[in-house]
Amino acid sequence: MSALAVLNASQLVTLAGARRPRIGTELLELGIIRDGGMLIRDGKIERVGLSDEIEQNLGDAEIVDAGGRVVMPGFVDAHTHLVFAGDRLDDFQRRARGETYEQIAKAGGGIWSTVEKTRAASESDLFAQAKKHANWFLRCGTTTVEAKSGYGLTVEDELKILRVLRQLKEAVALEIVPTFLGAHAVPKKLSTDEYLDVVITEMLPRVTTESLAEFCDVFCERGYFDIDRSRKILSAAKKVGLGLRGHVDQLTNSGGAKLMAELGATTADHLEQTDGQGIADLKKANVQPVLLPGSVYALGSSRYPRARQMIEAGLAIVLATDFNPGSSPTPSMPMILSLACTQMKMSPAEAISASTVNAAYSLSRGDQIGSLEPSKLANFVIFDCEDYRELAYWFGMPQTFAVYIRGQLAVEL
Ligand SMILES: [Zn+2]
Repeated sequence: MSALAVLNASQLVTLAGARRPRIGTELLELGIIRDGGMLIRDGKIERVGLSDEIEQNLGDAEIVDAGGRVVMPGFVDAHTHLVFAGDRLDDFQRRARGETYEQIAKAGGGIWSTVEKTRAASESDLFAQAKKHANWFLRCGTTTVEAKSGYGLTVEDELKILRVLRQLKEAVALEIVPTFLGAHAVPKKLSTDEYLDVVITEMLPRVTTESLAEFCDVFCERGYFDIDRSRKILSAAKKVGLGLRGHVDQLTNSGGAKLMAELGATTADHLEQTDGQGIADLKKANVQPVLLPGSVYALGSSRYPRARQMIEAGLAIVLATDFNPGSSPTPSMPMILSLACTQMKMSPAEAISASTVNAAYSLSRGDQIGSLEPSKLANFVIFDCEDYRELAYWFGMPQTFAVYIRGQLAVEL
């Protein structure tokens, strides 16, 4: 039995509330306890309340003095591409010079350069780089990430990435939810339909028999996997028991949101081009939108998804980084909060609900993480500020002070 008492939080941001994803004005309710504290036993939250009350019931608990700082649930990042080899620094420099995606691809950049490096990397090299990424997430105050495959695009290379994720789960404190994204792009030597067949008849069975993923994702876009092919992949994944997520309506409004609603997907991600009809479709099927403003920003675009309209429509909105080497090289949820507030006109409270409790539900873990309530896991962060709004306000400045996962100190800065 190990007990921990967190005392003297200027704001204990509990996000206590209904045991379901938050919608509408619920997103504004953070359940803040001023001068708050928490009692933790065996990695789980036992009691939440005023710091004074917690102090009176200390028992043998070890004390963590938050010293007048904000204490919050760790961020839950519901969309990342955590495992890849190398970087895309040359692409970044070319884009800054004004070169187009096509010019960059011609020069040997784009997703293919990452696929080639990832295929060439050994499992142990990939693991070493992934471990570095995992530490970046922790240092930004993220305690759980969803992580996708998708830079292998052959049976063995996709499995290699998912095995690296499984190994990583054992090696780091960061909690990891794996997603199979074999349908990220079509490998050069195959037609789309030939590759589709590989994904459905070879990859999916291996992924499920080895229990390597909880979700299946697809890049649904003209020139990649169109609506009909995306439906085939996701339907096959659903049959073998995987939850569904999808990269949809990022570059064109192709009916991706509607498809995710039709299939009863857990999330529809990106949605930069989704219109009112798509939003209504998502609402009807209770699909959670996962918005990724980091990729809009890093690509130098200004077409952000319609967050306000989604909130008004009653969608249980989620924010995530889309961490990847090409379009969103950031593991920082605080940066995403800043973008959500400045570019999508979300309030800091809405952004925090979207990146903690709602994100947890989007990973089917709403009963365990995402808020600071009795019986949930003690995954929390002490931020070096007094008011939670500072997290979105001071952008580009790390405010993480200490990160705890299951009541254990994971990072101290
Ligand atoms: Zn993505």
